[in-house]
Amino acid sequence: MGVEKVPKYDIPVKKVEYVFIELEKMKPHEQLVQKELEAFIKSVTGSGIFWKPMLLAKVPGEDMYLIVDGHHRWAGLMKLGAKKAPSVILDYFSDDVKVYTWYPAFKGDLDRVLKRLKKEGLTVEECENAEELAENEEIAFALVGKDKAFKIPGGLKEQKIVSKVLDEMSVEGEIELIYYGLKEDAKEDMDKGEIDYVFIRKAPSKEEVMEPVKKGEVFSPKTTRHVLPFIPDKIDVKLEDLF
Ligand code: AMP
Repeated sequence: MGVEKVPKYDIPVKKVEYVFIELEKMKPHEQLVQKELEAFIKSVTGSGIFWKPMLLAKVPGEDMYLIVDGHHRWAGLMKLGAKKAPSVILDYFSDDVKVYTWYPAFKGDLDRVLKRLKKEGLTVEECENAEELAENEEIAFALVGKDKAFKIPGGLKEQKIVSKVLDEMSVEGEIELIYYGLKEDAKEDMDKGEIDYVFIRKAPSKEEVMEPVKKGEVFSPKTTRHVLPFIPDKIDVKLEDLF
């Protein structure tokens, strides 16, 4: 898993009301990262305390909730055999909830990355206006460097392959993987020589986040970056009370 570069926002911590929601009624919208799942399980079983409430949104027309934040907490609790989790239900479609995306970027050898992407069946072609195509959702990703840009045609499926390749190459130590919350920050770091390339895609809309969930599909890890007007304060719930 790569490092995160989170934009600096001044978001206040707020004491929140939470309710207990059955894990079976929660639907993920992103794939999991094994390392994060293990880290959560180790933490929660070690302390016996569950301190970070899940953030959920009601799925319109269903008795189900979209997991906005908490994919690894959800999967971890399920794995431990728990039944429910303290959750904050958001008014998802209100203007208070914003959805952005993460931009994966790497420092490393471009040719090696291209070779791996191609080996996984992806097409990567040099293309001057790749970024524009990505922002118009006409391709899966634009791969943008200082002097060169490439397009990777496709959609959700191809984005998942890119995520998988980057995750693997980062674990193998072939690249340094960094996820940027803002592409401007990535470009600034590229100018400074801190990264070599950034993958750009359009953030999904809230409707687009809900859509695959209804069909039981998921996005690749770190496709969505949700921002709320507050950060929920820590809670103090015993793990044993979740069974
Ligand atoms: P996710 O559920 O996808 O947000 O990822 C796992 C999250 O679990 C991380 O954000 C951690 O901050 C959080 N976490 C770690 N230990 C605990 C714990 N004991 N109780 C609740 N959340 C935790």
